[in-house]
Amino acid sequence: MDFELSEENRIFREAIREFAQREIAPLVEEAEATATYPKQLFRKMGEQGFLCPRFPIEIGGGGGDKITECIMVEEVNYVCAGVASGIVGHTGLATYPLYVHGSDELKENYLYPAARGEKIGAFGLSEPDVGSDAAAIRTRAVRDGDSYILNGTKMFITNGPICDYVVVCAYTDPSKRGAGINLFVVDKGTPGFVVSRKLEKLGNHCSETGELVFEDCRVPASHMIGGKEGGGFEQIASTLLSGRITYGARATGTAQAIYDLTVEYAKQRVQFGKPIVKHQFIRFRLAEVAMLVDIMRQYTWRVAWLFDQGKKVRKESSMAKLFATEMVQKIAGDCIQIFGGYGYMKEYPIERHFRDARLYTVTEGTSEVQRMVIAKECGF
Ligand SMILES: Cc1cc2nc3c(=O)[nH]c(=O)nc-3n(C[C@H](O)[C@H](O)[C@H](O)COP(=O)(O)OP(=O)(O)OC[C@H]3O[C@@H](n4cnc5c(N)ncnc54)[C@H](O)[C@@H]3O)c2cc1C
Repeated sequence: MDFELSEENRIFREAIREFAQREIAPLVEEAEATATYPKQLFRKMGEQGFLCPRFPIEIGGGGGDKITECIMVEEVNYVCAGVASGIVGHTGLATYPLYVHGSDELKENYLYPAARGEKIGAFGLSEPDVGSDAAAIRTRAVRDGDSYILNGTKMFITNGPICDYVVVCAYTDPSKRGAGINLFVVDKGTPGFVVSRKLEKLGNHCSETGELVFEDCRVPASHMIGGKEGGGFEQIASTLLSGRITYGARATGTAQAIYDLTVEYAKQRVQFGKPIVKHQFIRFRLAEVAMLVDIMRQYTWRVAWLFDQGKKVRKESSMAKLFATEMVQKIAGDCIQIFGGYGYMKEYPIERHFRDARLYTVTEGTSEVQRMVIAKECGF
């Protein structure tokens, strides 16, 4: 057993950490205040192979593995979860199904430009009335000659307002629950496709989230990922499985940021004649946070490693997401308490991390859904 990062991964970690501090950190305040995504980051990250780090270099990726992707996600989250939301929606959700199942035409026109950051992708699964029970989606795709006609509404779609294309999940055969779903690539500007609303959120403010409406939207049949009717549910499942590992990394990045900020604050804040970090209760609490962050990271990397070995990690990926995203709720709550009244003020970034972290137990499968998956995989 070797618990060390590879040399490549260590070098990558230093490079993306430096990039995040230099290129992302200065943009965060304004992006969050104006709820506007700093779109230029897609190209900048793409140019350096940071955007899709586990795709091959020849197609614009970084030539790494799932661990590499987790490192990128952790480091970007450390700086700003909202920025990371946009990257994860693009890299994890909107390009992965194209990478695994896309035709040469779709790869050429969408995947490669997306890996280079020249096109921004979004992924539309959730609907106004359908979230956890993904097989219950109502969006329909009906064949008409060389096209499909899409009708339906997608809700809470990350990058929806800024995307160049969206991967839309729709039923080609609603008589087959789950099995009759397909994924379609729809260009921005296609007649019948509109971003009907940009949504306001509790946190992750700079990540732009939208409601998308498809009304008699004609899409070429060649834009169906996988090339034949049916099979989309498996494409969704494999995309979300990989995303659950990513969420372990997201939560770890936010938890590490919260820990670092809190230790720094507790060292300089003096009450009862000494820095509060010297009060036993606070020391013990921070010791526990240090322990939890380490376990979150190590478990996430372990599952990423298993994934890279081609092992079946349905249970483990849900465990990584459930554990890390639940733990960061506790960490955020405990640490904001250590900040006292200042924690509640906007002048310290802990307030932003606290709000941002709240998302993680909801999106890409709620904690309850992760428990359902784990229980099923455990055989009960
Ligand atoms: C900021 C943000 C960004 C998002 N980005 C995207 C995106 O890019 N693309 C996309 O497709 N979706 C996106 N989503 C949607 C997200 O994936 C869903 O919100 C999530 O899957 C939960 O679905 P829901 O909100 O409809 O909740 P529901 O499914 O309605 O669930 C409501 C509550 O009931 C619980 N529940 C449901 N079923 C059960 C059960 N059987 N047993 C016990 N409890 C249950 C849930 O855990 C939850 O607590 C985003 C959401 C947010 C908030």
